[in-house]
Amino acid sequence: MSENKPCPDCGAAVGEHHHHLCDVQRCPVCGGQYISCCGVPEEDIAEQGLEFAVWTGEWPGVAECKEYGWYCIRDERWGWLECGEDMPGAVADLNRLYRDAVWDAKRGRFVVKKSWVVSVNETNYGSAIILAETKEEAEELALDVYNEGNFNWHNSSLGEFVAKEDV
Ligand SMILES: [Zn+2]
Ligand SMILES: [Zn+2]
Repeated sequence: MSENKPCPDCGAAVGEHHHHLCDVQRCPVCGGQYISCCGVPEEDIAEQGLEFAVWTGEWPGVAECKEYGWYCIRDERWGWLECGEDMPGAVADLNRLYRDAVWDAKRGRFVVKKSWVVSVNETNYGSAIILAETKEEAEELALDVYNEGNFNWHNSSLGEFVAKEDV
């Protein structure tokens, strides 16, 4: 494992802060790449009671992928596919992290989005579980799932997608 390697971009040692222009440095406010994200100035970050994470020896987000068991593998024909952690060549699925998790600034980490049961016209025919932060996002994603044909909604005349938080 690469646990003790310095940051590949700025050379920070494990436990040290990145250089302020380091590519790897994440934004404590939005979780994006700091040099290209929401543009919060450094002084505002401290004012919000947030701080930059130190280099841990792993790419930001990898720890969360490991925690959630989100891995993927590159297939020559099909591209990136989700897989289990035991699959030879499996790497942390950061694309899934950005899709199914959301940055929690207070905790300084990604957390899984809320889970919603989305059904058509509030019937139980063809319902799906969707991870999203808001009801609107869940309904939009359900439409994507439908359009991709990845899920059988058992419903020829589609009406409205209705999401209910699944708690
Ligand atoms: Zn760095
Ligand atoms: Zn940001």
